[in-house]
Amino acid sequence: MLRYQYLRPSSLDQALEMKAAGGPQARFVAGGTDVHVLRRAGRLEFSALISLRRLPELKGVRAEGDTIRIGAGCTLSELLQEPLVRQELPILCDAVKVMGCTQMRNLATIGGNVMSAVSSGDTIPPLICLDARCVLVSAQGERRLPIDQFFTGPRQTAAREDELLLALELPRPAPNQGGACLKLGRRAALDLAVVNLAVMLERGEDGGIVRARAAAGAVGPTPLRLHRTEAVLTGGRPGPELWQAAARAALEETQPWDDVRASRWYRREMIKVLLPRVIETALERAEAKA
Ligand SMILES: Cc1cc2nc3c(=O)[nH]c(=O)nc-3n(C[C@H](O)[C@H](O)[C@H](O)COP(=O)(O)OP(=O)(O)OC[C@H]3O[C@@H](n4cnc5c(N)ncnc54)[C@H](O)[C@@H]3O)c2cc1C
Repeated sequence: MLRYQYLRPSSLDQALEMKAAGGPQARFVAGGTDVHVLRRAGRLEFSALISLRRLPELKGVRAEGDTIRIGAGCTLSELLQEPLVRQELPILCDAVKVMGCTQMRNLATIGGNVMSAVSSGDTIPPLICLDARCVLVSAQGERRLPIDQFFTGPRQTAAREDELLLALELPRPAPNQGGACLKLGRRAALDLAVVNLAVMLERGEDGGIVRARAAAGAVGPTPLRLHRTEAVLTGGRPGPELWQAAARAALEETQPWDDVRASRWYRREMIKVLLPRVIETALERAEAKA
């Protein structure tokens, strides 16, 4: 027998009303692939779950002028089928297609991945590189927060307790921008990242890098934007020397640890190996579009 209420609102207003009535003991649930694992492990307690699955306001991916808006309730499988995502956001596809397994991707949402706020959350490094903003909504109205300022600690975000993640908004990548993401796990499927790296680069007319975004997962208490790595790449001439300098910067600004998945030493070695690879793929994609 369930020891909590399961509420199924059919509109955003109804969901926010239920949350206001239930307070901190009422929790939103989207795909439930994180919530139910934690509940069964006794690490999460609540008196009510408010399901977001029937809310049309959280669905769909659309272009609005120069912005792409991804509904927080989009499942990972929906994202992979979405032409706009496949054509314009290969960096996000790289991340999503290696997450979990088909059954999990059919349930899990991008909003749930962001709101879980774990350091190894696979969609987060690409969203940081895409300059995504989190659109939060509560009974008080909407506000937007840059995703690189959203994670305040392990499983902690800057969202208020009464706020729901409505969507992620990002500027449409320009044709001379390209991005890529690489996840290293202990096996090819159904594993959390040992290291996760994402890079988004903009090429100038002379082939140099004029703008860079870089982010890493599973090598710090939260997903990290790599500001120093970006500074090294920006204005640099593509080539092995620049990749090595970028990897040195990434090592300075990440804090890998030892755990059951990998040692600190291995994670640092893998940053050195993977960063040049992900940069080269991002550059190829930028070139292909120029
Ligand atoms: C078998 C398995 C494999 C997995 N593999 C991976 C993997 O490869 N990579 C990875 O990153 N993760 C993985 N996960 C973890 C998890 O599935 C993902 O983080 C997933 O994206 C969570 O989405 P969800 O919709 O199921 O979230 P839920 O479990 O529904 O919710 C997660 C958290 O977010 C909150 N929440 C959800 N949606 C909203 C919203 N719109 N607004 C406010 N709060 C919200 C919930 O209250 C809860 O705190 C895996 C989990 C399982 C069980």
